[in-house]
Amino acid sequence: MSGAADVREWETVIGLEVHCELQTATKLFCGCPNVFGDEPNTNICPVCLGLPGSLPVLNERAVEFAMRIGTALHSEIKASSFARKNYFYPDMPKDYQISQFDEPINVGGWLELPDGVRVGVTRAHIEEDTGKTTHLGAGGRMHSAENSLVDYNRSGVPLVEIVSEPDMRSASQARAYASELRAILIATGASDGRMEEGSMRVDANVSVRPVGSSEFGTRCEIKNLNSLRSLARAIEYEAVRQIALIEAGERVVQETRHWDEGAGRTVTMRSKEEAYDYRYFPEPDLVPVVPDEELRARVTAAIGPLPAERRVALVALLGGSPTDAELDQVHAVVDQQLDGLVTAAVARGVAAPLALVRTANEVAADVEAGRALDPSAFADLLALEESEKLSATQAKTVLADLLANGGGDPAAIAAAKGFESLAEESLAQIIAGIVAAHPAEWERFVAGDNKLTGFFTGQVMKATKGQANGKAVDAELQRLRG
Ligand SMILES: [Zn+2]
Repeated sequence: MSGAADVREWETVIGLEVHCELQTATKLFCGCPNVFGDEPNTNICPVCLGLPGSLPVLNERAVEFAMRIGTALHSEIKASSFARKNYFYPDMPKDYQISQFDEPINVGGWLELPDGVRVGVTRAHIEEDTGKTTHLGAGGRMHSAENSLVDYNRSGVPLVEIVSEPDMRSASQARAYASELRAILIATGASDGRMEEGSMRVDANVSVRPVGSSEFGTRCEIKNLNSLRSLARAIEYEAVRQIALIEAGERVVQETRHWDEGAGRTVTMRSKEEAYDYRYFPEPDLVPVVPDEELRARVTAAIGPLPAERRVALVALLGGSPTDAELDQVHAVVDQQLDGLVTAAVARGVAAPLALVRTANEVAADVEAGRALDPSAFADLLALEESEKLSATQAKTVLADLLANGGGDPAAIAAAKGFESLAEESLAQIIAGIVAAHPAEWERFVAGDNKLTGFFTGQVMKATKGQANGKAVDAELQRLRG
C-alpha cells in the first residue's frame, strides 16, 4: 500500500460483555453471606467450595434481580436452565462453573444511550462468580508470581452477564453504554455497580474494518477493564494497534488481551489456538427456571422509573434548558440514585439549581451517606442557605454534619456551630458595632471611598471568625451608608 489514494478510513466495532454481581443477601446456590471485603475464606461452605456430595439450591432473589435487569433492558424473559461450564483454574474448586448456556433467562433487548442511539442486547444470563486469586510478586499475574493466594468468599456469588451486540463504534460510545448500564443496574436495585470493587466488570470485543464494509474484522477480547476510563483508553489503544497491523500488511490474530493500566496498552493473554473447550452440559442438580405470573408481576412492580426518565424529570425541574454543567450534574445525581434529594428539596420550594449543585458536588462525594440522608433535613438546610441565613460555606459545613449522622435539624446544628450569630439581626448589630468603633473610616466610606468596603468586610469576617455571609454584609453596609 502506498500513496494517498490507498489510505482507507477505519471504523471501530465494539461489543461489550458486562458481569455484574447481584446484591442478594446470600450466594447463588448456598446460604453463605454475599458480602464484599470480609476476611478471606470466612463466607464459605461445602456447596460453594464444591465439595463432593454437596447440592446447589437456587436463590430465588437472584432470579428476581436477573429478571429486573432483563425487564429494564427490554429483553424477553424466558424459561431457562443451567449448565456446567468445565475448565480448570484454582479459583474454581468444582472445576466447573454453573452458568446458563443455550437457555438464558433474558433474551434480546436494547439499551438506549443518552443521545438516543440504541445498542442491542444479545442476552443477559445468570451464573456464579468464581473465587478471587491474588498473585504475589512482580506484575501481579500468575506466570510471574512467586505465590498465589485464593479467597473463596466470592465463589458462588450471583452474577448476571449482559452481552451486547457489536453495535458500538467508538470508545466514547462504549463508555456511554457502560455508564448507562451501570445506572440502570443501580436503579433496579439488582447490583451496586461498583467497578472499583469488581461488582461490575467489563470485557470489550474490539475489531476494525474499512468504513463502508459490512463484514466484521477479526476481533480481540480485552479483559481487566475496571473503570470507565480504562475501558475507553483500552479500546482506543486496541483500535490503533489493529489498524497499524493491517496497514503494515499483517493480520490481527483473534485472541484475549489483558489491559495493562500502568503501561497504557493491551498485551496478549491467550490466543484462540489455546482457547478452552468448555464441554458444556446440562447441570443435573438444578431444575429449569420457569418464572410464573406472580414472580413476573413482582419484578415489574419492583422497577421504578429508569435513569433516562428520571433525567428528563430533573431537566424539567430546571425549566427545561439546563446548562452543560447542570446537565453533567443531572447525570451524576441520577447515576448515583441521589435525584430523590433534589426533587424533595424542590417540592419544598428550594430553587432547582441550588438543590442540584449541592447534591452533585457535596452529597455525591459520599454516595452511601447521601442515599441514607433524610430528604426533609436536606431541604430545610437548603432553605436556610437560600434565605441567606447561612452562607454557602456554613451550609456545606452543616451538610457534612447531616451526612455523617444521616439527618438532624439543620438550624440546631448551625446554632451549635455558632452560626446562629449570623442571623440578620445579629449581623446588623455586629456591623453597627464595627462602624461605631471606626468613625473616621466610616466617614470616608460614606463620602464615597469604595476601597473601604474591603476594610469593613474584613472587620466583620474577623468578628464572626469568617462565618458571615459576604452578600449579607455588603447589603447591610450599603443600607447603612444610605
Ligand atoms: Zn456457601
